[in-house]
Amino acid sequence: MDADEPGLDILDLTVEPEDDDRYARFRLIHWWDQQRLHEARVLVVGAGALGNEIVKQLGLLGVGHVLVADMDIIERSNLTRSVLFREKDLGRRKAEVACRALEDLNPEVTAQPFVGNTVYDLGAGVYSEMDLVFGALDNREARVSINQHCWNHNIPWVDGAIEVMQGVARMFLPPDGPCYECTMSELDYKLLNMRRSCALLTRAEMLAGKVPTTPTTASVIAGIQVQEAVKYLHRDRGLPLLDGKAFVFNGLSNDSYIVEYQRREDCLAHYTYPEVCPTNFGSETPVGEALEFVRREMGPEAVLDLSREVCVALRCKHCDEVQPLFRSLGQVTEAEGRCPTCEEMREPELMHTIEGDEPYLDKTLGQLGIPPYDIFTGRVGLEMKHYVMGADRAEVMGKLA
Ligand SMILES: [Zn+2]
Ligand SMILES: [Zn+2]
Repeated sequence: MDADEPGLDILDLTVEPEDDDRYARFRLIHWWDQQRLHEARVLVVGAGALGNEIVKQLGLLGVGHVLVADMDIIERSNLTRSVLFREKDLGRRKAEVACRALEDLNPEVTAQPFVGNTVYDLGAGVYSEMDLVFGALDNREARVSINQHCWNHNIPWVDGAIEVMQGVARMFLPPDGPCYECTMSELDYKLLNMRRSCALLTRAEMLAGKVPTTPTTASVIAGIQVQEAVKYLHRDRGLPLLDGKAFVFNGLSNDSYIVEYQRREDCLAHYTYPEVCPTNFGSETPVGEALEFVRREMGPEAVLDLSREVCVALRCKHCDEVQPLFRSLGQVTEAEGRCPTCEEMREPELMHTIEGDEPYLDKTLGQLGIPPYDIFTGRVGLEMKHYVMGADRAEVMGKLA
């Protein structure tokens, strides 16, 4: 600040250091530790109505490292529920604008956008670096994906859902609590499997489905989500948490209540990686080379499991034609999915294990549709070892690397 500038002489530049402390009021809370918030690394999945409110709160609180993942661009109708977006931002990427606004709100926060489909294109290595994840996306498939990654890496996630004036906030805390899949009914699984069997078609439908939401309900639910995160970061202070429970809010009657979830011991989503081993491999590594590495490490019988299914071909049932196409499902556009002959939506042929006899071993992991900074697994029988594609880290983590 230039003290010679006219007008500035009326400012008292000799303020007490305490008054100059951005977090002075937080420090009055006896259990508060601002340094923990500053050091925390969190992932926000979705930069819509809930995501905006979450990111805003993280900025005010000084949560120091935030990765915001969203694939969409800002439309005019977003402006009624998105405190971080302005008219001038129309047409820009939600994740990028949210991160810029966050750093503007609090320059002590480092924010990194991820523009892409979180389910298919966000490398699992990202989760390995996080203390906590926020779910702010309204679809079952994204929740299953976040839940799986969080259990794999043993980190909690706080989910939010809103519709008109109702909302739910809930926290899932691995490894011993109930997980999101434990809460899924048979109908939920049926709907999820329907999506998987014709992933392209339903993805297009999902993008078209709009849920009516308000900024007021988003604010209530996101406030609870972030507050739970703050308490979690101080979990050694004996604060009660919403772990394995849901806060259900009805904005019409202003009723709220807590639901407690039950852990299902037969749930298949409770696997936690014992260890994630670093490698210098990345999306430029040929998949055959990664398989050889796994076999050197684990023996000649080992196979390579990818962390997700990738599309290797599109099949038209009507024309009985198969077109090879290596891509993550998140990268296959609806137009590409349609059969050029009959215009019907084709089914993707999915693959997630490399056994060594595939005709595409010289393709790179990236060419197969594996996202950068992902994790692959070597497997022999029941023995598994997990490896992160470290060569991509700087590219994906950006300012958080
Ligand atoms: Zn479960
Ligand atoms: Zn066809």
